[in-house]
Amino acid sequence: MSERGNRSVAIVGSGPGGMYVAQALVEKAPGTRIDIIDKLPTPFGLIRGGVAPDHQHTKRVDKKYAETALSENVRFVGNVEIGVDVSLAELEEIYDTVVLAYGAPYDNRLGILGEDREGVFGSNAFVGWYNCHPEFRDLDPDLNVSAAVVIGVGNVAVDVARVLSRTPAEMKTTDIARYAIERIDASPLGDIHMIGRRGPIEAAFTNTELKELGELEDATCVVDAAQLPDEVPAGMDERDRKVKARILETLKGLSKAEPGAKRRTIRIAFYAMPVEILGASRVEAIRMERTRVEDGRCVGTGETYDIPCGLVVTCIGSRARPMDGLAFDERRGIVVHEDGRVKPRVYAAGWLKRGAVGTIGTNRLDSYAVAELLIGDFAGAPRPGPEALDALLGERRLRPVSFADWLEIKRIEEEAATEGAPRAKFTAVDDMLAALEKAR
Ligand SMILES: Cc1cc2nc3c(=O)[nH]c(=O)nc-3n(C[C@H](O)[C@H](O)[C@H](O)COP(=O)(O)OP(=O)(O)OC[C@H]3O[C@@H](n4cnc5c(N)ncnc54)[C@H](O)[C@@H]3O)c2cc1C
Repeated sequence: MSERGNRSVAIVGSGPGGMYVAQALVEKAPGTRIDIIDKLPTPFGLIRGGVAPDHQHTKRVDKKYAETALSENVRFVGNVEIGVDVSLAELEEIYDTVVLAYGAPYDNRLGILGEDREGVFGSNAFVGWYNCHPEFRDLDPDLNVSAAVVIGVGNVAVDVARVLSRTPAEMKTTDIARYAIERIDASPLGDIHMIGRRGPIEAAFTNTELKELGELEDATCVVDAAQLPDEVPAGMDERDRKVKARILETLKGLSKAEPGAKRRTIRIAFYAMPVEILGASRVEAIRMERTRVEDGRCVGTGETYDIPCGLVVTCIGSRARPMDGLAFDERRGIVVHEDGRVKPRVYAAGWLKRGAVGTIGTNRLDSYAVAELLIGDFAGAPRPGPEALDALLGERRLRPVSFADWLEIKRIEEEAATEGAPRAKFTAVDDMLAALEKAR
């Protein structure tokens, strides 16, 4: 080690993928100087901007991340976008190692006719809108509609259907954007269709999330019993079979529910895929083709039907985008890497590495493995490290947001909260920066 003593690592992205790399480095390579750089002034990625506002318990993982960010030799450098404010090549000059953990936030496209019509949104945009993400606060979805279609049967689809069905009273203890809950409440929305291409056994939602749909204050969740098998088909390993059996049991319970008594109805349907979005300029209906599952694969039957609707939210996964000339796997929507190694001294972690699947916890093991790898790879003369980044940001008159700044933003948000709510989130970066100036 040099006189500076310690290696320096830049982590691009402060979501779970990046935070677990930082945590692992703090534990396994104490003294490493770690800068966690994020384009937003607010840390923790989808924990703030993706996880549903009525799932505050899930967001509590941020306490552990905050501990990491407050560790010695660790800094949060928010409000700095790599690839825009500072290039990857510059980071490589400054730090011994760069870990890319900038997520996979670009919605997959349906690839069907009419999908650019007004009223069709990807889940990242729609979820970002109700979660106060600065990039989506102006999405302005028209909810003056009587029916919505949510494409997909994973947990993100369940989140969207549930948030569209919640009452203001149910949302009182959440941090949903005020503009969103007001618009959702004012909406004449009656039916929310949630549709999967394959069957109930193949659906990706988990039982806990599914069960919540049956417990809503002013919405009923129904499913057609004719689409449910009597039992989980044979041939699955015992653990999967148990998981699927519980889901099937919940679905059977939902199939007995009677719609009509409550304001909204969530209608879960299987075996159908979208083939066209219909309408003049706005979406007026979606054309679906019935499917069947053959050897786990979804096959169209040629039989179509239309669902009139004024809103479509696609929850069909998302992808990353390449950065600064890095090799990119277009099919999987991730950066090209080998076990996390992108090129000498550059690594990938989180959804950018694995694609947009799995839970927050999935990132932990994976990011720890990446950290082990990069620690083992440390070699050569140490590079200048964090001070050189500060000099560059200063030259460019950029305004980085430190973790102390973030704690101030957090304090202001918590103070502004209405009774019972954890916080009233800022939705604009300029407002956050202005509040910081004022608080100085
Ligand atoms: C809608 C939704 C709900 C979810 N709910 C749950 C849940 O309830 N429970 C659960 O276990 N999992 C949930 N997940 C999954 C979980 O959020 C992911 O596993 C996790 O966030 C992936 O972490 P990541 O760090 O790879 O990406 P992200 O969390 O997306 O973090 C990426 C970070 O990189 C930053 N960034 C992007 N580009 C740049 C750049 N150029 N320069 C600097 N910074 C940049 C972003 O601002 C962001 O902070 C959900 C996912 C979604 C989409």
